[in-house]
Amino acid sequence: MATQNATNVVTDRLVGVEIDPYEMMLHQLDLVREYTNVPDGVWQILRKPERTLEVAVPVTRDNGDVEVFTGYRVQYNSARGPCKGGIRFHPGVTAEEVKALAGWMTWKCAVVNVPYGGGKGGISCDPTGFSRSELERLTRRYAAMIYPLIGTRRDIPAPDVNTNAQVMNWIVDTTQVLSGESNPGIVTGKSIELGGALGRREATGRGVMVTTLGVLQRLGIDVTTTRVAVQGFGNVGSIAAELLEDEGATIVAISDVSGAYHCPAGFDIKKVLEYMKTSPGHLLAGLDHPGTEEITNDELLTLDVDVLIPAALEAQITGRNAADVKAKVIVEGANGPTTPEADLILGEKGTVIAPDILANAGGVVCSYFEWVQNIQCFPWEEEETNQRLSRIMQRSLDEVWELAEQKNISMRTAAFLLGVERVAESITLRGVFP
Ligand code: NAD
Repeated sequence: MATQNATNVVTDRLVGVEIDPYEMMLHQLDLVREYTNVPDGVWQILRKPERTLEVAVPVTRDNGDVEVFTGYRVQYNSARGPCKGGIRFHPGVTAEEVKALAGWMTWKCAVVNVPYGGGKGGISCDPTGFSRSELERLTRRYAAMIYPLIGTRRDIPAPDVNTNAQVMNWIVDTTQVLSGESNPGIVTGKSIELGGALGRREATGRGVMVTTLGVLQRLGIDVTTTRVAVQGFGNVGSIAAELLEDEGATIVAISDVSGAYHCPAGFDIKKVLEYMKTSPGHLLAGLDHPGTEEITNDELLTLDVDVLIPAALEAQITGRNAADVKAKVIVEGANGPTTPEADLILGEKGTVIAPDILANAGGVVCSYFEWVQNIQCFPWEEEETNQRLSRIMQRSLDEVWELAEQKNISMRTAAFLLGVERVAESITLRGVFP
């Protein structure tokens, strides 16, 4: 298996510090064009989001002032089923970012073969400065504004950066007030009491762990000898770290927005998680762990480790730092953490990258289970969820790995190829309306 196609050339506009995630997603998509026979018309459909909604979200702050934020919901493609994708509250949210994320969701759902299209949403805001009641008002108004687009059979949101089960609960309630009907399947990642799936909170991190173990096994690396660095100690990163530690890996570096920490002998992740239950802002800052030094985020990315798990935001491994990355394996917990330019540099070095649309798909697989349980009004045991999740992640890794070997392409190109061909096939079978 090649780590990257020798013929891949990154266009000049992608080289540099400013990276447009939508351009990046389209660039990754275009790299698989030469391996498919998808007709030109269908290819044009694949390169455009079906629907992009921009909404104003006015919020009354606790002091009585009204502030207006901009929100989005993008439905990228629904050929394989209702659109599916998270909601992000972050100052960096833009229409272009949401379009990119909705595109990645489309290919991801197809790679793991769940019957969904891809969507994504978000509000450009800094929620860290919000009180709980301000956050609730922001969420409820946003939910009301995107209400015409979402629904159990249309488009199903879920948590993403800075959103969680509580945010989903407010969306369930708001949409129930608006429709007059109980409809828990309108979002996934909600609290168990409201129809959430046991295991959903851990699902993305669990999928990252399963993928990491699968890649290590194929490379003949014993997990108990691996040193792992995790960028972004939020939902995905912290759970992946905890589960990999349970499997015998040593987690030597972790970070969040408050700073990065290096512990060569390995963190006791359960103790770190205990600390974060009561730390200010539930952040790592102030962590007192034996044998730990504070490092910069850039130093974390370039540490001498076996496995690097970027689990924060897009465009973290770029042309600027890729040459210094020492990890043998990168497992992308975040969406879009590696730019195409970095992909090329890492490919030349032989770094194996388990791409986002495969490695972090555990969340959407479990969301699919939650949605099925909501539609059937029949909850499953957690064990059943975890077993089915592992099976789907392992099967998807098998398919991507095999395709990469067969065509001598990188795992990213193979995953895109697999996903894109499935979406293209559904579009072709449906035909173009009218
Ligand atoms: P989260 O908000 O729970 O965690 C994000 C973490 O990243 C936080 O710890 C934050 O402090 C940290 N962070 C932000 N900027 C950083 C920086 N510059 N350096 C270091 N750390 C930084 O979000 P999450 O749900 O864990 O999502 C993380 C990534 O995983 C996102 O790219 C998201 O799209 C992706 N993802 C999430 C899910 C899911 O189920 N939650 C599923 C698939 C993919």
